[in-house]
Amino acid sequence: MQYTDTDCVVIGAGLVGCVAALGLSQNGFRVQIFETVKFCKGMPEDGRSLVLSPSSIQILKALQIWPKLVGWAYSVKNIRVSERGTYGSVLLSAEEVGAQELGCSFPAGKLLGALRNAVVEDQNIVVRDQVSFSELKEHNDYCEVNIVEDGFTDKMSTRFLVGADGSGSTVRTALGGSLSTISYGQHAVVAELTASVPCNHKAYEHFTGQGPLAFIPTGLNTYTSVQCFDVEASIHACAMSDDAYLRLTEKNIGGRLGEMSNLGKRYSYPLMRQKSSILNSERVVVIGNAANVVHPNGAQGLNLGFRDVATLLTLIKRSGKSYNTKATLGQYASLRLKDHRMTVRFTDLLAQGSRSSLNSLVIFRRLSMLAFSHSSRLRKRLVQKASGLGLLEQSVDFSLWDQ
Ligand SMILES: Cc1cc2nc3c(=O)[nH]c(=O)nc-3n(C[C@H](O)[C@H](O)[C@H](O)COP(=O)(O)OP(=O)(O)OC[C@H]3O[C@@H](n4cnc5c(N)ncnc54)[C@H](O)[C@@H]3O)c2cc1C
Repeated sequence: MQYTDTDCVVIGAGLVGCVAALGLSQNGFRVQIFETVKFCKGMPEDGRSLVLSPSSIQILKALQIWPKLVGWAYSVKNIRVSERGTYGSVLLSAEEVGAQELGCSFPAGKLLGALRNAVVEDQNIVVRDQVSFSELKEHNDYCEVNIVEDGFTDKMSTRFLVGADGSGSTVRTALGGSLSTISYGQHAVVAELTASVPCNHKAYEHFTGQGPLAFIPTGLNTYTSVQCFDVEASIHACAMSDDAYLRLTEKNIGGRLGEMSNLGKRYSYPLMRQKSSILNSERVVVIGNAANVVHPNGAQGLNLGFRDVATLLTLIKRSGKSYNTKATLGQYASLRLKDHRMTVRFTDLLAQGSRSSLNSLVIFRRLSMLAFSHSSRLRKRLVQKASGLGLLEQSVDFSLWDQ
């Protein structure tokens, strides 16, 4: 039976959902995207700066979305990694691996605003905001979806459905399966600031006894600071005066960035790891944070979500006109397992290892820093891993995208 209002429904117009909708539309699908919050033109408020890896940049270029975003990008060419109480540090540099940059930082609100504008302008995409996905029912050759708007339930049908509805995903719940959640017992406090030491395209990751502290370069002398604190300390950090917070931040980075000023609004994000045991059914797939939430310290979460989208699009392109939803989504789920597992493990190791005061872990951490500071080969491997390019190559075939 051919009974579908649309080819594809995307639930959630976050960063991953928008890129998925744009990619599907480029492949000739009629797409409808549903979002709970108001989908206004303009830039949603979000204090974070997100670092996109070379793999994400490659995906956005292949989807021809990059020109709409590049105006907000600030190139990151070096990362200085250090630890409190030790003198040594490690410099990861683009030059050492023969690349122009290690990634680009973006103001998160501007990135989302630009992607949503692209979605609104796309003729193949119908946008419905301030509505909420509630239920689905799968049939042999289509899927029935319930959408709630102003308390009224609207039914529609689609060939398949993509759940990009974030960490609290209702699509994932509808799939069944279980969710493993680990709280790191910490919050990341994020704030923009100016420092007397210019950015010069360099990011900083400093391991304090509390957890990682990162500075993401965003302009001439401006950074977005991301400090991980235990929950109580994060409440205290958000409540203190601007001046006290700036002095604390200067001290926590060991004075490396000089004097700090112009503190922006502080935002606090709970830190957790979340993994869905199930990624798909015959007509439904979950991607991005709906599938995995990882610690932000390695700047991997969104990049992982973009690789989800790119893998799905590659499989659809590979099947061509004979595209079979059930087989494609099944293949998608098995192809994504390795990347999901490795990225979760990598970010988790960084999170646990950087914070632990267990003697054995402290020794291991310091020996690792020493090894990285002396070995160019190890540094190159780390940069290669964090770039996501190796994992991208395993499941994405860009030669198909040009056809
Ligand atoms: C402090 C911090 C810093 C980070 N830095 C980085 C970084 O530098 N690099 C990186 O790669 N990653 C980073 N991340 C991770 C990154 O932010 C996430 O991986 C990414 O935002 C996930 O996007 P998403 O679209 O999957 O989910 P979300 O952004 O959560 O979007 C989900 C969307 O679905 C909508 N929605 C929810 N339920 C429904 C429903 N029932 N019906 C309709 N719509 C619904 C929501 O309103 C939302 O718009 C960071 C995270 C944090 C917390």
